[in-house]
Parts: sequence; structure tokens; C-alpha cells
Amino acid sequence: KIYVLRYGHRPGRDKRVTTHVALVARAFGADGFILGDVADESVKESIEKVSEIWGGRIHFEMGVDSQKYCREWKRNGGLVVHLTMYGLHVDSVIDEVRRLGRDILVVVGSRKVPGFFYEVADYNVAIGHQPHSEVAALAVFLDRLFTGRELYLRFPDAKVEIVPSPRGKKVRRLGAGVE
Ligand code: SAM
Repeated sequence: KIYVLRYGHRPGRDKRVTTHVALVARAFGADGFILGDVADESVKESIEKVSEIWGGRIHFEMGVDSQKYCREWKRNGGLVVHLTMYGLHVDSVIDEVRRLGRDILVVVGSRKVPGFFYEVADYNVAIGHQPHSEVAALAVFLDRLFTGRELYLRFPDAKVEIVPSPRGKKVRRLGAGVE
């Protein structure tokens, strides 16, 4: 299983970005999203609302101690991958990470990330060595991990799905009891 841990969320200013991290986790094939150290109902509600309509509900936790969570993850045999521009280039590690076939906890930060995460990580992975965004970093990491297959994911519990169209918006309703 692949979980994403968002470290350093500030409920005042990070709502949107953290929600986007959670949405990318869901849409790009992760199985869980952990909001470390703080609780923020608005992030929980946003991701639940999307999953309610589009399916693909993923495991969600918030307010858990991030550092403890990482240690526990490793104790259970999982890998911790910390996304940071200071790490090793994704191209030089991704095949090895994939080949190991272990559970992965992908850690993304917000502003400054304490040294703990660089130490606890089995891999510090850079999505290129320029500063950009946790949303972009997570999307590219998962895309490389799943070699692009995640963009074809369909969620069996979806109430609606998109009918691709060259122009306009086509949506098909799915399932019994939905008109
Ligand atoms: N300045 C902060 C630092 O020195 O740790 C990072 C700020 S950045 C807006 C927030 C998060 O985006 C980082 O903690 C990291 O997880 C992710 N990130 C940004 N650029 C990245 C890159 N090139 N490679 C991997 N992750 C990146």
C-alpha cells in the first residue's frame, strides 16, 4: 500500500494546497492520506465530498504524530520516501523503490521540514533539483512509480464518470438508484 503523509500543514493558509495534495494522492493511486500533527475538518470534508461523487475513497487520518507515524511505518516493514529537492534524482532511485515492492509512506512538507525526516527516510527523492510544489512533486513521483498507469484508474464506487469529449462536459451516471 502507498500512503501520503503531509507534514507541516498550517490550517490558516495551507487548506487549498493540502487539499490538492490529498486529491492528487487519491487520483494518482495512493491508498491513504495522513494529515500530520494537526486536524483540519475542511480538508477532510473536501476529500470526502470528492470521493462521495467520484468514488475512490482512500484511508484518511489527521492529527497523528508525524514522527511516530514514520517510525511505526518502518517498524511494520514499510519504506519511507521523503520528497525533497535536496534528495537523489527520482530517475536514479525509482526503479529500485518499485522493485522492492514494499509499502511506501511518501512524505511531503509545506515550508521547512525538520532534519528528522531526512534521517528517517529510506530515500530522500528529488523531483528535479529546483524548488517547486508538494502537489507537483507528489504527482510526478506517483506517476513515475506507477509508470503512468494511474491515469487510467477507474473507481468502482463512483456515482459518475466522465465521457471524454473533445469539447464540453459529458458525464455518465453510474450505479443503481442514481437517476
Ligand atoms: N523550502 C522548503 C525546504 O527547504 O524544505 C520546501 C518548500 S516546498 C514549497 C514544500 C514541499 O514541496 C517540500 O517539503 C517537498 O516535499 C516538496 N518539493 C518541492 N520541490 C521539490 C522537488 N524539487 N523535489 C521533491 N520535492 C519537492
